[in-house]
Parts: sequence; C-alpha cells; structure tokens
Amino acid sequence: MSEDRCEHLVKILMIGESAVGKSCLIQRFTKNEFSMHHTSTIAIDFKMKVIDIDGTKIKMQIWDTAGQERFNTLTSGFFKGSDGIVLTYSLTDEKSFQCVNKWMDQIQKLAPADVKVLLIGNKSDLEEERKVTREEGEAMAEKHKVKFYEASAKTGENIQELFHDIGKQIFEKISQNPVVNFNPQKSEKLSGYLSKRKLPCCGGSTKNE
Ligand code: GDP
Ligand code: MG
Repeated sequence: MSEDRCEHLVKILMIGESAVGKSCLIQRFTKNEFSMHHTSTIAIDFKMKVIDIDGTKIKMQIWDTAGQERFNTLTSGFFKGSDGIVLTYSLTDEKSFQCVNKWMDQIQKLAPADVKVLLIGNKSDLEEERKVTREEGEAMAEKHKVKFYEASAKTGENIQELFHDIGKQIFEKISQNPVVNFNPQKSEKLSGYLSKRKLPCCGGSTKNE
C-alpha cells in the first residue's frame, strides 16, 4: 500500500431522504460491511477509499450527512467543492423517490455546475417490498440526465460498480481540464485542495474525521 501513489483527491456527497441507506452504502463500499441498525445518530463527516481508474489512483473522500437531510438543512457549504453526488432513494419507499426532484433542485442551486450525479435505487434485495419499479427509476434518471443504478448495500449488488462509475466520470472530467500541481508543504492555502489537485502521496486507509 505504501508505494501506491494517489494522484487525485475527489469529493463525493451522499444525499437523499433519511433511512434510504446512504450511510450503509458508504459502509459497504469502504469496509465491505453491512449493519441493520439505523446509523443516523452517528455524526460521520467523511470516509476515504482509494480506487484505481485505468491505472490512476483516485482517492475518494465520501461525505455523509449527520441527519441534517431530515430537516432539509443541507447547506451550500456541504455542496461546495463537490466533484460527485450520489443521490439515493429506497425502492421500497415511494416518498423517497418523489423527493428525488427536490434533491435535484438542491443540486442545481447549491452544487458546482459541472458536478457528476448518479441516481441510486437502493435496497434491491427487498424485491417483495418494492414500491418503485426499475422503469420508473430509469425514467427519473433520464428526466434529470444522469446515470442510474439499482443497488443493495445489504448484498453488495452494484456497489463497486456505482462508485467506480462516478469515479471514472470525475476522472474523465479532470483529465480534460488542466491539473494544478499541488505541494501541501509549500502551500498554506489548504482550503481549495479538495478537488482536482495532484497529491504527492496518500495511503488507502479508511478515515473518519
Ligand atoms: P441513511 O439515513 O440514508 O443513512 O440510511 P441508513 O444507511 O442508516 O439505513 C437505514 C436503514 O435501512 C437501516 O436499518 C439499514 O440497515 C437499512 N438498509 C440500508 N441499505 C439497505 C439495503 O440495501 N437493503 C436492506 N434490506 N436494508 C438496507
Ligand atoms: Mg445516515
């Protein structure tokens, strides 16, 4: 792990209604674990995971909410500097699906214009409790011009695929732009380092802050 060189740091946000499985998706992706306990009381800021896109290491900094989504109080600060957004509903919860439109409005208002967005219908393992069809999910994604996956944090279905997909979309966007070389030892301006920056080195550990 130590000789792995991480070349890009990207900021991903998880948004969507409460209890759709945002925290569980992060846990499955970063630790390959799943818990049936609702974790909304735990104030997670972000977790890290390094992925490989066509031979380039991408360090994903994945931001969770700490329950603010219940009160519609996600701020512009939360969206600032984001490279990617994973917008999730539960396919067992019709209301969480209807709220996708509201979350898309928030993205439009608060996120950077070039942010990459994925729509996820989570809990695909609960087929017998399904309230939203795959076709409805696909139509919603098409309406908002984003890619769509059904996934399950419980079984792991499509979890690697969806995070790699958004990582790849972001990497392709970064590759088209001039990349700023960045040396943290020389720079005192750390505030802008969250996106589109080359890093001298970083490990692959999972981290909470
Ligand atoms: P959040 O509020 O969006 O972060 O939702 P959580 O990640 O806390 O999950 C809410 C509840 O849904 C918890 O009880 C989880 O165990 C459950 N859950 C999350 N993802 C899945 C899934 O893919 N399948 C099933 N069956 N349950 C899930
Ligand atoms: Mg949560």
